[in-house]
Amino acid sequence: MQTIRGTKDILPKEIQAWQDLYFKALELFTLYNYYEIKTPIIEQTEVFLRSVGNETDIISKEMYRFKDQGQRDICLRPEGTACIARAIASNKLYTIEKIQKLWYLGPMFRYERPQNGRQRQFHQLGLECIGSDTPIADIEVINIAHNLLQRLEVEDYHLQINSLGNEEERHTYRIAFTDFLKKYEKDLDDDSKKRLPTNPLRILDSKNNKTQEIIQKAPCISKYLTASSQRHFDTVKEYLTLLQIPYKINTKLVRGLDYYNHTAFEIISNKSNNQNTLCGGGRYNRLIKQFGGPDMPGVGWAIGVERLLMLKRPTQEKNSEKFRFEIITENSEGQKKSCHLMQILTENSIPFNLNLNNQRLTKQIKKAVKNKSIGCIIIGDNEVQESTITIKWLTQNYQETIPYQSIIPYLKNKIKTLEKFAIYTKIA
Ligand code: ATP
Ligand code: MG
Repeated sequence: MQTIRGTKDILPKEIQAWQDLYFKALELFTLYNYYEIKTPIIEQTEVFLRSVGNETDIISKEMYRFKDQGQRDICLRPEGTACIARAIASNKLYTIEKIQKLWYLGPMFRYERPQNGRQRQFHQLGLECIGSDTPIADIEVINIAHNLLQRLEVEDYHLQINSLGNEEERHTYRIAFTDFLKKYEKDLDDDSKKRLPTNPLRILDSKNNKTQEIIQKAPCISKYLTASSQRHFDTVKEYLTLLQIPYKINTKLVRGLDYYNHTAFEIISNKSNNQNTLCGGGRYNRLIKQFGGPDMPGVGWAIGVERLLMLKRPTQEKNSEKFRFEIITENSEGQKKSCHLMQILTENSIPFNLNLNNQRLTKQIKKAVKNKSIGCIIIGDNEVQESTITIKWLTQNYQETIPYQSIIPYLKNKIKTLEKFAIYTKIA
């Protein structure tokens, strides 16, 4: 049996990159006082209908939606922001702290055509700053995304920004833009024709060449911004320059979700042409209010983890080898003793692999060599009888038999010497 189309197993050999990402993100976000939050993968469908917007791709065609056995209308979450907004409102987090700085990492689900960098179950690492409408909040979140990519040694990307104005400005622009497109309606691609009456701004995003040609001449949203929206956008640009974060203004950048206001941005990889948007985000208002909370403006982003990891340089294997002992037993008495041995090794944080092959001692030792163990800790029949234990050092090719109760001080002492000469480092 195979995994479901558009989903993937993440195997142990790949997981190191995921762990590395998690720990680097945790470290960086903690510096900025952002806290991790985990919300359920299933939510009432209403959570997304209320926030993401009916005319968006996500709601109109990408939802994993079903009735559970209690006839509840449920959905596998397609994105994280709506869930966080719901969580802030339902847990009344705003009563504890007016400004919520949160981040998350987890699987999201969208019924899309699977391609390289596009899956049906994929992961997003996301960050939200909720409760402030100052442009410096926009800057903080963009700066964190930029810093994270730098720390992960992702190269060759650029930031695109736009301002979508407030609701009224967008409404006026929408009318002007629709009027303009109506003149060219017959030349638009089929998808755009469908979007014209329902979600015309999304046409700006069309990948169709002919449609893009038409849009070049269309009115631009920047002309419809009022002075205060323009000021917000100007401040964002000014501070990006201060922080030396290069950006391009893309007046055609609209995000796929309905809840965005003012700043919208994407971080795009220069390395490939398809599925090259690593990170998408922007400012949103009303979201918390829609879930019964107060009117709290927010700004945040989400990075597609699979896309990010495809671009990241593979983590360098540490120079020094990692060490692990192989516990080898001969018969049931030896196995019984290994139960105690495992306990004391664990208590002392000494890594080991318990050989489970039930083979002769020599075969188990061969296996330990193959596993690149630093040494074998052997409890054979002799050792059981004499209450001793034998340590066979594989890299130095000698062995010592010592009283069983001396095993921990003996190993610690040896490990200290090995570490001193930087021959081995401990597995984290
Ligand atoms: P796209 O235009 O590529 O469909 P989107 O606008 O739908 O992206 P967002 O909702 O903004 O994407 O999600 C943020 C990020 O999550 C994207 O930039 C991308 O890196 C990642 N992402 C979105 N959908 C998928 C998917 N189906 N598979 C893998 N990653 C995805
Ligand atoms: Mg999409």
